[in-house]
Amino acid sequence: METPKCTSEIFGINVFNDALMRERLPKNIYKAFVSARKGHQEMTLSVADVIANAMKDWAIEKGATHYCHWFQPMTGLTAEKHDAFINPTPDGKTILEFSGKELIKGEPDASSFPSGGLRATFEARGYTAWDITSPAFVRENGKNIILYIPSAFCSYTGVALDKKTPLLRSMEALSKQAVRVLKALGNTSVSAVAATLGPEQEYFLVDRKFFDKRLDLLLAGRTLCGAPSPRGQEMEDHYFGSLHERVANFMNEVNVELWKLGVSAKTQHNEVSPAQYELAPVFATVNVATDHNQLTMDAMQKIALRHGFVCLLHEKPFAGVNGSGKHNNWSMCTDTGINLLDPGNTPHDNMVFLVFLCAVIRAVDKYAGILRASVATPANDHRLGANEAPPAIVSIFLGEQLTDIFEQLASGKAKSSKQGGEMKVGVTTLPPLPKDSTDRNRTSPFAFTGNKFEFRMVGSSQSTAGPMFVLNTIVADILSEVADELEKSKNINADTQKLLQRIVKEHARIIYNGDNYVEEWAKEAEKRGLPNVRSSVDSILTIYSPEHIKLFSKHNVLSKVELHARMEILLENYAKTLNIEAKTMLQMGRRQILPAAIAFAGKVACAMNSMTTAGVKPEAQKALLKKANDLIAELSEVLNVLQVAVAKAKETDKADKKADAYRDKVVPAMVEVRRVADELETIVDAELWPMPTYAQMLFIR
Ligand code: ADP
Ligand code: MG
Repeated sequence: METPKCTSEIFGINVFNDALMRERLPKNIYKAFVSARKGHQEMTLSVADVIANAMKDWAIEKGATHYCHWFQPMTGLTAEKHDAFINPTPDGKTILEFSGKELIKGEPDASSFPSGGLRATFEARGYTAWDITSPAFVRENGKNIILYIPSAFCSYTGVALDKKTPLLRSMEALSKQAVRVLKALGNTSVSAVAATLGPEQEYFLVDRKFFDKRLDLLLAGRTLCGAPSPRGQEMEDHYFGSLHERVANFMNEVNVELWKLGVSAKTQHNEVSPAQYELAPVFATVNVATDHNQLTMDAMQKIALRHGFVCLLHEKPFAGVNGSGKHNNWSMCTDTGINLLDPGNTPHDNMVFLVFLCAVIRAVDKYAGILRASVATPANDHRLGANEAPPAIVSIFLGEQLTDIFEQLASGKAKSSKQGGEMKVGVTTLPPLPKDSTDRNRTSPFAFTGNKFEFRMVGSSQSTAGPMFVLNTIVADILSEVADELEKSKNINADTQKLLQRIVKEHARIIYNGDNYVEEWAKEAEKRGLPNVRSSVDSILTIYSPEHIKLFSKHNVLSKVELHARMEILLENYAKTLNIEAKTMLQMGRRQILPAAIAFAGKVACAMNSMTTAGVKPEAQKALLKKANDLIAELSEVLNVLQVAVAKAKETDKADKKADAYRDKVVPAMVEVRRVADELETIVDAELWPMPTYAQMLFIR
């Protein structure tokens, strides 16, 4: 692999970015493009023709042979279908072409992607549409070089079938309402507000040779059984530890690949669990950041293989150690460059900040249910509400300084801001450190972290589009309320103050600065009336409600049918995931674990016979054999129970009942199989055990 001499030389070299467009496009075409990107005019075919041609020439110079519309169906992954630039001519040769029409629109068949019942109502034909807000790029995949066009994906009738469309719609909604609020507050120079996102991506790396021997990792992405390693994460020595050289090489290659693609991979470090790591980029607009996060996940998985690793993005690959999340750092930024969640030095008299802060607080409290549902997946059930970070209760961490201001607002006007000051470490040669006004809180699901909120419930394998379009929409909705009120105001200062006071009083219950992991918080939250929906199925079922239908249609983010489809897809996905996990477990139980245990018991029995013949009483062996034999019987029994549960769940008709059946019958049966299998693992001869152990997978690299 080539090592870069200078990062700035390779950054973005595979992106058809603004600098390139300015260089390669006629001035009027570039202008028209920028104006279309701002939403000021439509992208015309004649403009697209010129851009397509320039894109093609550039891509071919880079060695590209094909182009593709790159889109994000409801699988949560990305999809692409490649078309070569070739266009054969009658004389037996070919010319290389790429038209504006081909750039603007693609026509993949929509019938083989999840549609949540929309397919029955609508035609199979689907369209992809060029997303001009996210730049095109070329990607090298082995020797194959392709021009990628980021695209939205919809059905023949214009119904969104992807994750990007609602995200783009939600950004427009947020921008529109935020601009209204700013205008009402006297800022007339802002014409657009962008939601920004910096997603911190956690992942595991496991040696390929172990991965290949684990059917569960191969098919389900997580271990379905495995006794705990004698050593786990208790020494707290992995987090931020010195990187293993092989891991560092992997990270280096990922960085270079991402930098070329214009992804600003910035931070890398060891995470809490052994074999767990994190990568964070510099934030971007939420749409571009979402595309970049998809590229990041894809690049990590491909590059891991080149280093003999497999990259696990699952939320809980290993029981008993840290799971993986994707902290979504989110804020709003004006086209004049103001971060609306930046408190400044004296937040108490920063009216704009306080209004936007309070709007977010009200949005998160009022719509806690749909925010929780945006991260409801079977994989995330192993994190949220399973005594692991963060809990399923949505609450907000504000920190000392803002909580103080929040309390002042409740009694009328905020008059002061607590300051951080300076901190002396007690060593004269160390510099005094400017202290933040607030400590951090690692356990909060929705934490204010200086000049942005950090939504920590998002799962590591999830597309950020879902949680982000929900967050954008709920905030847009509250901002629209705020704008309605303030636009009518005759005395903006007094009325804003009243509005803030009202929000603070009504939503004080959502603020919680304490430890979110302790049992007392669950009790306290219940007293405060905050929902605690532990199961993703229950959470998904709350999606299609009159309140949410109204919310998403008011802001043109999802129509009623689109919202319903999304709920159906999530329910189906729950059942399908559990079905795969359960069947994988049955296979491992019957074809690997049970035979190993039987072989072991046979070995002990033979040894006992020889000892008896030799005149020695094999008492310990007898006890061991009995234990093995009992566990073998128990394992057979629980495997049978699991099989029956899966068969029944599979036959269940309606999506909600089916998901219920998997959760209520299949999951508990799997827990039982695991319990017995893990116990067997602790007594069966290591030579006979048919798969790598937790200790091997977590510690050997
Ligand atoms: P932490 O200390 O929690 O790791 P960092 O300061 O490293 O926080 O930032 C984490 C992520 O937050 C990074 O991706 C960063 O780019 C992003 N971030 C910073 N400011 C903003 C913002 N205004 N909007 C969105 N994301 C932001
Ligand atoms: Mg963080």
